[in-house]
Amino acid sequence: MQNMETVVGLEVHVELFTTTKLFCGCSTAFGAEPNSQVCPTCLGLPGGTLPRLNQRAVEYTIEAALALNCRIAEKITFDRKNYFYADLPKGYQISQFFSPMGTGGYVEINLDGKIKKIGIHQIHLEEDTGKLFHAGDDILTSAYSRVDFNRAGVPLIEIVTEPDIRSAEEARLFLQRLRSILRYIDISDCKMEEGSMRCDANVSIRAAEGSALGDKTELKNMNSFRSVYKGIEYEVERQSGVLKEGGKVIPETRHWDESKGITTAMRSKFVSADYRCFPDPNLPPLETPAEWVEKIKEKIPELPSSRSRRFIDDYGLPPYDAEVLTVSRGLADYYESVLRYHRDPKAASNWIMSELLRLLNAAGLEVDECKIQPEALGKLLKMIGDEVISGKIAKTVLEEMFASGEDPEAIVERKGLVQISDESALEEIISRVLENNPKSVEDYNQGKKKAMGFLVGQVMKETGGKANPQKVNELLKEKLDG
Ligand code: ADP
Ligand code: ZN
Ligand code: MG
Repeated sequence: MQNMETVVGLEVHVELFTTTKLFCGCSTAFGAEPNSQVCPTCLGLPGGTLPRLNQRAVEYTIEAALALNCRIAEKITFDRKNYFYADLPKGYQISQFFSPMGTGGYVEINLDGKIKKIGIHQIHLEEDTGKLFHAGDDILTSAYSRVDFNRAGVPLIEIVTEPDIRSAEEARLFLQRLRSILRYIDISDCKMEEGSMRCDANVSIRAAEGSALGDKTELKNMNSFRSVYKGIEYEVERQSGVLKEGGKVIPETRHWDESKGITTAMRSKFVSADYRCFPDPNLPPLETPAEWVEKIKEKIPELPSSRSRRFIDDYGLPPYDAEVLTVSRGLADYYESVLRYHRDPKAASNWIMSELLRLLNAAGLEVDECKIQPEALGKLLKMIGDEVISGKIAKTVLEEMFASGEDPEAIVERKGLVQISDESALEEIISRVLENNPKSVEDYNQGKKKAMGFLVGQVMKETGGKANPQKVNELLKEKLDG
């Protein structure tokens, strides 16, 4: 039991950014009046027109498949997955069972600087179901339920990984990277909290690395990356407990209870044969000629893994910095724009990662909503580099820029923040500080070198933080030791 290994495979659903549904012209806009975006086709009513495939959705799926390094099917076909549920008005879901759009891909994740490939088993296109609302929390005891079919027929892609994930942390990293990639190609906003990205986690444990896969459970209802992480951790603990007591893991679907932090049995697993899938007779196969795929490929921008590698190679950034800065295309673009105005890659990275991201997070803003233009940040970094202002002062200038969008030079000028590096001016202040603090001077002379820090602090205080700290250190040392 010592070296038991966790095995996880994820099934991720992502809603595509199309304005209309997958097989009809109904709007996909979020937040509309319930059942206002429906028609006989997506409701499965008699008299509906035949399904007409949304070409944009197909192109997005091919783009995603390419971004995930998949092979593209030569023929696109759709199948019916048959089951009854109140949120599925047609009695079947149109999906791609026999021939998914993309297969055999991978996503790279960064494990403490080591790159690991997580296999992508397949990616396919399907339609979403409606949404149920239960009166009361519990489905079984609620008096009634309501259903909104606005979501029924909205295009979804499903991405299925190989069972290559070995921990809750790897699952989190995978989801983050997947979200980054899909946002780079701009096909979805991938918001787990809003349901535009949903993730089921298949979890099992086995005796040791390389031994046969154990029986798995499938976790549902996790609404954030954090919940996916916690759900997997909980499930691994639970299964180990079962196995340690000589029991067997029952293959079943389990429900993650966010408030209790546990998973509970929901139903036993359906196998694919239960759905009696067959090709949808209303949807003829669609070929994917190489020129078409090539054209879609040309739209794909440089993706996070290669961009991160380039940041390391071209700008000499540590892998951690490169990873953070390439999480979103907007942030990576912002970083590279700043470098166009002031080419000090590490300084730009430090200021963006620590100060700018802190301000953005606190304000709940994305980088493209930031009032500080890359050029202005470049100017600020140049002023720091040229020792016109100290790093400490620069922080307050940056905060002001962030709030008002004002130019850093204008702020520094208006507030008289230019750093004092002039030796004679500093010497005068230092003499005064030494006179006023004889005790510290004595301490220093008796070997208490810590007194130095206090004296530097006093000089900084006298100058309102504007003294060049390095100069102050040098001059103070000269005076005290000399
Ligand atoms: P099912 O037939 O139960 O739907 P699939 O083989 O289709 O199972 O796999 C569904 C998902 O479960 C995939 O992401 C796959 O990687 C993952 N998976 C398969 N077997 C295991 C296992 N033993 N432990 C963890 N995950 C698994
Ligand atoms: Zn419709
Ligand atoms: Mg399956």
